[in-house]
Amino acid sequence: MTDGLSPGSTIGILGGGQLGRMLALAAARLGLKTQVYSDEPNAPAFDVAEWAIVGSFEDEQALEAFAAGVDVVTCEFENVPARALEVAGLKTPVRPPAQSFAVAQDRLTEKNFLRELGIAVADYAPVEDEASLRQALRHVKAPALLKTRWFGYDGKGQILIRNEAEAAMAFTDLGSQPAILEGLVAFERELSVIVVRGLDGALRFYDATENVHQNGILALSRVPAGIETEYAVQAKRIAGMVAEALSHVGALCVEMFQRGSEAPHLLVNEIAPRVHNSGHWTIDACLISQFENHIRAIAGWPLGETARHSDAVMTNLIGADVERWRELAGEPDLSLHLYGKAEARPGRKMGHTTRLLPKR
Ligand code: AMP
Repeated sequence: MTDGLSPGSTIGILGGGQLGRMLALAAARLGLKTQVYSDEPNAPAFDVAEWAIVGSFEDEQALEAFAAGVDVVTCEFENVPARALEVAGLKTPVRPPAQSFAVAQDRLTEKNFLRELGIAVADYAPVEDEASLRQALRHVKAPALLKTRWFGYDGKGQILIRNEAEAAMAFTDLGSQPAILEGLVAFERELSVIVVRGLDGALRFYDATENVHQNGILALSRVPAGIETEYAVQAKRIAGMVAEALSHVGALCVEMFQRGSEAPHLLVNEIAPRVHNSGHWTIDACLISQFENHIRAIAGWPLGETARHSDAVMTNLIGADVERWRELAGEPDLSLHLYGKAEARPGRKMGHTTRLLPKR
């Protein structure tokens, strides 16, 4: 184990969204520089990085040159092509490792991986075509969700099948592509746990968060999550198992469903091998945020304190919500974060607020 990167070193971030922006801000606090590579010219992270590179994630020469100019490469989104990680890895260490992305990018690989670890998930079956979908419906009974194997996010790439008659249409509507059929979980709550794994294998956990989604998009996250201690501990244990099995380095989010009386009580929905929207509250309610701990991990530094000093409610500002910025800026006990995006399109995450409350 080395001492890690020295202050003044440069971190390369693949992806330039708000997560990249918050990673760059956290890096700056530690005296580390950032260069951001994005395929979007007005990426939010460009505003706060030392260097902004606009390029395609298919452009191997540009990616290689980018990686050669930084001391470590990380990612702020999970759908970065495997080849891009491979090319970057020829020049400089890539953290988290490619394995974490390979598992999280494909819903079928992800579910198989979780099941092999003995972690409970919803019933599921692979779908290749209409015939295999009919087959799958014999095992996973309707109502069920048909989800594309790749590139699903924020509720996109999934369709509810209420009965067998809807199956063929759903498969066509999803673009007739490989998918998984997943049983609809009657959950009481949605939870997530963010775990950070250091370069030396150390694990740190943030408290389990309760998440409320609207139209498939995260609307609100709350800590404490209001679950019994036994389940809060179990949720962290699951997140730790995932991080260790992947030999992950950096932050990782495990999203779960909590059911009422039915066992098993916690089912994992999905893994995000990165900092996560449901951990934004850690900026304001913890000494060291998920963003700083991710930077510490990939830089080979000791991880920082993850305990929360306050209770918190994080609310996303989606689309036109952001027009209330002036009023929100004037509210006591509220922290306002704006991502610098020019256009407030419906469904677009424009910022968030965190309300701090005394710790219960
Ligand atoms: P995902 O893209 O898989 O994260 O799904 C987005 C949201 O859809 C989740 O946060 C849940 O609110 C809902 N959802 C996904 N899968 C299921 C399921 N199997 N049962 C019930 N709700 C689900």
